Order: sequence, then C-alpha cells, then structure tokens
Amino acid sequence: MTRSVTVLGSTGSIGVSTLSLFEESGAEIEMLALTAGRNVARLAEQALRWRPRIAVIDDEGGLAELRERLAGSGIETAAGSAAVADVAGQGADWVMSAIVGAAGLAPTLAAARAGSTIALANKESLVCAGPALIDISRAAGGQVIPVDSEHSAIFQVLQPGCADRVARLILTASGGPFRTWSREAMESASPEQAVAHPNWSMGAKISIDSATMMNKGLEMVEASYLFATPAERIEVLVHPQSVIHSMVEYVDGSTLAQLGPPDMRSPIACAFAWPDRLPWPAPRLDLAALGQLTFEEPDPERFPAIGLAREALKRGGNAPAAMNAANEVAVAAFLDRRIGFLDIAAAVAETLDRMNGDEGLSGGASGDALENAIMTDGSARRVAAEVLEGFGRRQMARN
Ligand code: NAD
Ligand code: MG
Repeated sequence: MTRSVTVLGSTGSIGVSTLSLFEESGAEIEMLALTAGRNVARLAEQALRWRPRIAVIDDEGGLAELRERLAGSGIETAAGSAAVADVAGQGADWVMSAIVGAAGLAPTLAAARAGSTIALANKESLVCAGPALIDISRAAGGQVIPVDSEHSAIFQVLQPGCADRVARLILTASGGPFRTWSREAMESASPEQAVAHPNWSMGAKISIDSATMMNKGLEMVEASYLFATPAERIEVLVHPQSVIHSMVEYVDGSTLAQLGPPDMRSPIACAFAWPDRLPWPAPRLDLAALGQLTFEEPDPERFPAIGLAREALKRGGNAPAAMNAANEVAVAAFLDRRIGFLDIAAAVAETLDRMNGDEGLSGGASGDALENAIMTDGSARRVAAEVLEGFGRRQMARN
C-alpha cells in the first residue's frame, strides 16, 4: 500500500536518515512535501530525487535559489514558516517531524490537526506542549509515534493495557562526550568538543544537549507525556555503549529492554511500519563482538540538567516549556561562544528561578493550554536572554 509522506526538516540528521531508510527499504511512498530551514542546495537535491509535490524552505531569502534549482521539474516551491506549517497540515498519511527546537511545534500541530500519523523526532515540541499536542492528534484520529530511540524502545516494550503495571521507565543515556571529564575540564569545553558525540551522529543542538545531558532531561519530560508516567517513576541510567535503548520495569520485577545498533533508521523504520516491521538491510548487533554492556549512575554535580528537568516536570504546568526555551537560547549562545559550557545549565536554572511566581509557568491564568505554553516559551526566551547578558560579560572577562 503506497502511503503519502511529508518530511519536515528533511535536510537535517533525522531527515537524511529518513530518506536513506526509504531508499534502503524500497518502501512504497508518495512524497507529498519536503521542508528545510536554510539549506537550499540539499533541499533541491532531495526534491529532484524524491519528487515531492512541493518543497518548502523556511528562510524566505532562499526561495529564489530554490525556484531556480527546481525550474522545469514541476515541483512547486514555497517559503516561510507559515508555508512550512501549511504543507505539514495537508493530511499526509505519515509525517516525519524532524525540525529542531520549538520551531517544530506549529508544523507538528498542523499535522496533528490533520489527523496524520506523526513520527515524532522533534522532542522540543512535546516538551513545550506535549499534552495539548497528543490530545489534538487523538481527537483528529491520528497518532504520535515516538522516534527518539529511548521512547521508541519503551513504545516497543510497553504492553498495551499494562500502563498501571509499570514500576519504572528506565531511560538509558550514553553519557555524552564529557562522561569521564572533570568539572574543571568541562568548564572550558569548546563547541567542537561538545558536538563530538561518541556513538551517535546528530545535529548540533541535540549534540550539545547530549553533552550537558539536558537531552536526557528533555527525554524525561517527553516520556512522562507520551506514556502518562510521573517523574518519580522515570529514571536515567548511563550506558556508554548505547545498545540498550531503554527499559520498562513492571510491578512483578520483570524488566523488558529493546536493543539495537546506534542507528536512527531503526526507530524511524519502527515508526513507519508500526505495528508491522519494515524489512531493510539494517546494521545488526554483534553482542559477542561487543563482549560487555556497562551501566553507571549519572553524576548530578557535573550534569545538573537532569535534576532541573525532574524539578520542572514535578512542578508541572509550563515549567518544562520554560526550561526548554531557556535551554534553546543558552545552547545557541554557547555555540556562538558567548557563554561557557557549564553556563548552559546554570542559565536554565537562573531563568526558571527568575520566572518563579510567573502565572504562565503554573499553566496560565485561564484559557487555552496551547496558547499558554507558547506564551511561556516566548517569555522564557526573553528572560533567558537577559540572564545570558550577565553570563556573557563573565565569559568576555575570561577570554
Ligand atoms: P538537525 O539540526 O540536523 O536538522 C534540523 C532540520 O530542521 C534541518 O532540516 C533544518 O533545516 C530544519 N530547521 C531548522 N530550523 C528550522 C526552522 N526554524 N524552521 C523550519 N525548519 C528548520 O537536527 P536533527 O539532529 O536532525 O534533530 C531534529 C530533531 O530530532 C530534534 O528535535 C532532535 O532533538 C530530534 N532527535 C534527533 C536525533 C538524532 O539522532 N539526530 C535523535 C533523537 C531525536
Ligand atoms: Mg534520544
């Protein structure tokens, strides 16, 4: 059965893995739309290969070049964030949500409203407005299938109808590039060192999140919303080999795990074919060659982001949305060399402190949950920018 497909963020790490999986599996698809942020050349190349009905570039300055590159192909073009959300909402059977950051929220919501099956990689949209997003998708007859490897693992081993028999969700974490570094060394870590992930090749933002372990914090929130599980029942376990992608412990003491090589095409294949399985020449695990799997507790001193996320999740309301927004602003500042590595989590903590008492943080005074989450995202970005100004002056003094 041929399915219509839209890939949001097709030029990124997950977008490219998605198209590679389609190539490798020969899945029967009809491409409805491909969208990208700024990379016109790669988007045009993908469009010529996959022949979508429309190719959309978020950056309006890129439209003329996109048109030129696709001239005579019959592929429509458009630009701007409204156009991205518009094509996302055109009712494709399957939408890969792989834009990075809260910028992915509006298009993902549009796909949810259209009742599409959403393969969700864009974790920030869930952290910002997860409950609303899931409700909207359900109400429209669609579904959200997680692509994040940890959540895909849990999704695969969670027995339907057994949610109240789950004792703990155990999110595994590689520990990132600084797992064995001292706090002093982390203090002066450069963006190049922070994006060099030991096991996974990913976009810059999620690579920094893995280095601070805020990625695991965001994933804790993501898991809580996706699997209706409170913070108290979600744990993080460092597992440097990234072979076990996560586990579910049941009340009878039995623990189920999902394993696989660190290749995002596997969770993407799962989200594409579910509840079926997609045959493709996937890399296979060779456990004998690996020899051993190891585990350790995360260090809260060097990786305070996990604790921050746990607190935000316990606080509820829009605290996770504020945390996510502050983190996006701080990661961008670090990549820009305006602040140091350890300042990222410090800036998130300071932003949440300064927003204490903000009524938006506890869910908003009244009205629409989604609007409140989006407003909190905006105010947290403003507060984080102020916090970072102070941090930036410190960094300049250091340089
Ligand atoms: P990436 O930076 O490699 O790609 C992001 C994509 O989004 C690109 O196509 C880019 O052009 C597009 N984009 C960026 N800003 C945009 C905007 N404002 N409007 C429209 N499009 C925009 O990121 P990635 O590593 O592919 O990650 C994508 C998402 O998937 C993130 O939310 C990330 O946390 C999540 N994720 C990624 C991985 C991974 O292995 N890369 C694993 C799990 C989850
Ligand atoms: Mg993950």
